[in-house]
Amino acid sequence: MTDYSDVIARLHHAFRWDCDGCGRENFVRAISLEQEYIEGKFKTEVDDDSQHILYPAIVVCEHCGAQYLSSFNEFDGLDEEGTGLD
Ligand SMILES: [Zn+2]
Repeated sequence: MTDYSDVIARLHHAFRWDCDGCGRENFVRAISLEQEYIEGKFKTEVDDDSQHILYPAIVVCEHCGAQYLSSFNEFDGLDEEGTGLD
């Protein structure tokens, strides 16, 4: 077995969801935005201590290939660009 005790595993935010088609659990990586990008694109100031995480508009089950529009309980729908930002 290879020893990776001196290597750091970098963790990333992700969303967990269950497929209605096959019932299996999936994970999809969250989309992280830089503070400067948000302030430039949306012409607003954001608190630099907060997390700027989006979810993908569409998810695909890695087990059966079923594709779904996604939603997250903090948001009540997708915006025009499908980013979940309002
Ligand atoms: Zn599935």
